[in-house]
Amino acid sequence: MSLIKLENVSFSYDKRINAVSNVSLSVEQGQYVAIIGHNGSGKSTLAKLFNGLVLPDSGSLLVDGLDVFNKKHLLEIRKRVGVVFQNPDNQLIASIVEDDVAFGPENLGIERKEIGERIDFALSSVGMQNFRHSSPTRLSGGQKQRIAIAGVLALKPKILVLDESTAMLDPQGRKDVLDVALRLNKEQNVTVINITHYMDEVVSADKVIVMNKGKIAMSGTPSEIFREKQKIEEYKLELP
Ligand code: ADP
Ligand code: MG
Repeated sequence: MSLIKLENVSFSYDKRINAVSNVSLSVEQGQYVAIIGHNGSGKSTLAKLFNGLVLPDSGSLLVDGLDVFNKKHLLEIRKRVGVVFQNPDNQLIASIVEDDVAFGPENLGIERKEIGERIDFALSSVGMQNFRHSSPTRLSGGQKQRIAIAGVLALKPKILVLDESTAMLDPQGRKDVLDVALRLNKEQNVTVINITHYMDEVVSADKVIVMNKGKIAMSGTPSEIFREKQKIEEYKLELP
């Protein structure tokens, strides 16, 4: 069973132009999938569809077998699909790292002891265990994004979605965040969907999906995609 399965999904914000148009795709357990495309191609809309923040206007969408059109499933879907966004400064809310990571589990009503364990697990998963009592404001962009990832991991999601989460980072921060995502995928079998506009970030993906004007323009392995030099130019992507 696919963890995410879209069939002929369309969505528009204003009922005129489709932000996502007739998209069919599936993501399997344990995969590392990269979604790439220039600005406005529909990538963030896909991320919102994946975790039920917006619902398709048409088509079908199952997340871990749960139908997004069933309202009873929405909370469970949001637990299973954790999304980390672009701006590290908009994602951290507490003044101490551990409180920030605890925020999600606390909202789910998880008991104290379990929350403590989840903080340990989440911070060590992103290599930030030594910053448990630090203030997020003192961290670099890359460190903040790793805390944001830890906050998502504390909810024990099956799927981690990074929506341009490296876009505002310096090269070292980008590398650290990507390393964490790759390690979570390889060592903890977390399914990762990395949405990016950096072509070099798709190299380690099992599958690459190229978006253009709301549609899937190409889909394949990184080497299959890199071979199509003309199309890469047409879709305004840059070769690494
Ligand atoms: P990407 O993440 O690839 O840049 P988006 O999914 O954000 O693309 O946007 C896809 C299309 O939907 C664009 O044309 C964009 O202008 C439009 N769009 C995105 N968010 C909104 C919104 N909240 N309201 C109206 N239109 C939106
Ligand atoms: Mg976007």
